[in-house]
Amino acid sequence: MDIKQILKQFYGYDSFRANQEEVIKHIMNGEDCLVLMPTGGGKSICYQIPALAMPGTAVVVSPLISLMKDQVEALKANGIEAAALNSGNDATDDLIIRRKCMSGDMKLLYISPEKLMSELFLLKNLKISLFAIDEAHCISQWGHDFRPEYSQLSVLTEQFENIPVVALTATADKITRADIQKQLKLRCQKTFISSFDRPNLSLNVKRGMRDKEKIEHIKRFIAVHPDEAGIIYCLSRRNTEKIALQLAASGIKSTIYHAGLSQQARDAAQTAFKNDEVQVVCATIAFGMGIDKSNVRWVIHYNMPKSIESFFQEIGRAGRDGAPADTLLFYSLADIVQLSQFARESGQQQVNMDKLESMRKYAESGVCRRRILLNYFGEETGHDCGNCDVCKNPPKRFDGTIIVQKALSAIARTGEKIRQSTVVEILRGMKSPTVTRNGYDKLKTFGVGKDVSTNDWQDYMTQMFQMGFFEVLYNENNILKITNLGWEILHGKSTAMLVVPQVIEKKPSLSRIAERRLRPEIPVIMRFDDDLPNEEDKILFDALKKLRAKLAEEQSVPAYIIFSDKVLHSLASIKPTTIEAFGRISGIGEYKRDKYGKIFTDLINKRGG
Ligand code: ADP
Ligand code: ZN
Repeated sequence: MDIKQILKQFYGYDSFRANQEEVIKHIMNGEDCLVLMPTGGGKSICYQIPALAMPGTAVVVSPLISLMKDQVEALKANGIEAAALNSGNDATDDLIIRRKCMSGDMKLLYISPEKLMSELFLLKNLKISLFAIDEAHCISQWGHDFRPEYSQLSVLTEQFENIPVVALTATADKITRADIQKQLKLRCQKTFISSFDRPNLSLNVKRGMRDKEKIEHIKRFIAVHPDEAGIIYCLSRRNTEKIALQLAASGIKSTIYHAGLSQQARDAAQTAFKNDEVQVVCATIAFGMGIDKSNVRWVIHYNMPKSIESFFQEIGRAGRDGAPADTLLFYSLADIVQLSQFARESGQQQVNMDKLESMRKYAESGVCRRRILLNYFGEETGHDCGNCDVCKNPPKRFDGTIIVQKALSAIARTGEKIRQSTVVEILRGMKSPTVTRNGYDKLKTFGVGKDVSTNDWQDYMTQMFQMGFFEVLYNENNILKITNLGWEILHGKSTAMLVVPQVIEKKPSLSRIAERRLRPEIPVIMRFDDDLPNEEDKILFDALKKLRAKLAEEQSVPAYIIFSDKVLHSLASIKPTTIEAFGRISGIGEYKRDKYGKIFTDLINKRGG
């Protein structure tokens, strides 16, 4: 069968994304290659379609059992014969799998690297179509997730002469890339690199909020994302717990995930999230690698990440199905202080400080944020994205010289001995213990900034730091020291422009989807493969979602395995009333059409589709 037909029949898609077709043809030509695509870019299809088109079984190496399970479930849901060989299987399962492999019925076999090494004998006796190495960066010490079990995988190129090996990863950097090719001893150096742009992710940054305000903001954010799954990333375990408690108090179901929990507790959290039993995971960076959940609709960074790589990876876990998803980064001076300290104490001080600096530039950007991201990954783009906060609300500036002078004079009058929080207390005229103990309430500057809210002061302080008016002495309890530039402003020798602080929306009432529709200039949806044309019927969408949840529960699979959110959106706007029309929706292959066509079109017809 032709590969385009396979794409349509099994996956229900009409066209390939960039590079997919080239990779597939390359593999089917019998040659090795390396494939770089961002998370959600569509790597799986690159080896699954050759697996379906070629005789024999494709062997896919994957680092985590949970990932294999996800992939196998998704394949089976499309009517494709697939299984995972791992230590968790019982003997009967194992036997059935082996038999299907021997008979050639098994199209894809997922296996962990250690299991692969112990099953070389089995593999030598099978007809193998190709080897795919997923998360291939795990083989490199330079990558962010080195796994020693991966290092023996060159047996594949050494011992299986005519079988192509395809290595796939979402890690972009050049050293890791070259290392993967070297370690695997790939026999062809061909590398396919896709754009790392993820236009369906909106990018937003909120500056200078304190914990209490962040939590309030998160609650409002979740209120406009009702029933939509999301992840909140924090720096500390304590914060994950604190946020989960606060969310619970507002009736939002969440769970926590961090390295301090038992494996059992972590698995339970992951499963609850996958199955939509909880809406939110409050996690440290340890979370995310093990899941393929395609309907994560938002990611919030409660604290700033330590590098753009980490940030990009973490936000990449949202919107893998290609439907719109929102990301929000909270950014504060306190985070910079803490992260600088981590970087300083790390083995690679300079590298880590540079990475942090790039991340800071992203957070502080006055130009399109997507440009900064793509630039960092070496991609050029000729236009602003229209889907980041800078594009939507360009920052407004004003002459802030007097504000800056007030703050700097508070620092100067204490003899440059105080931290940011104390500066704000003095300006606002707050008699905190630090203020009274040191007699700062007697200073001339005490209370001169009463007219500006604490929030806004925080924001201005962050901006002043960005502009280099003062330094933070990390080694001296984070006290602030005025720079030459700062003294010039204080002495009236130069002026300072400030950005008007961001307003905190008090009542965002429109749903995100509705808002998108009111703003046709946002090119998010247009740039992806299929059409979200006419009015989406919101009530129908909710009903479809309920039906999906019911089916998922009956079959004990996560909802996104049945249909992606993107498919549901298409159904809610195109409203197909016949099984045939249903099967034409992008993302619905023949198997799902036959299995679900009736029940879904019945629902659509009942609602007067
Ligand atoms: P990755 O492994 O690179 O993170 P996946 O292979 O999981 O990405 O694909 C991400 C999503 O994109 C999946 O929902 C997949 O079905 C979808 N997808 C992949 N290729 C296409 C295509 N050609 N057209 C439309 N959707 C696609
Ligand atoms: Zn932009």
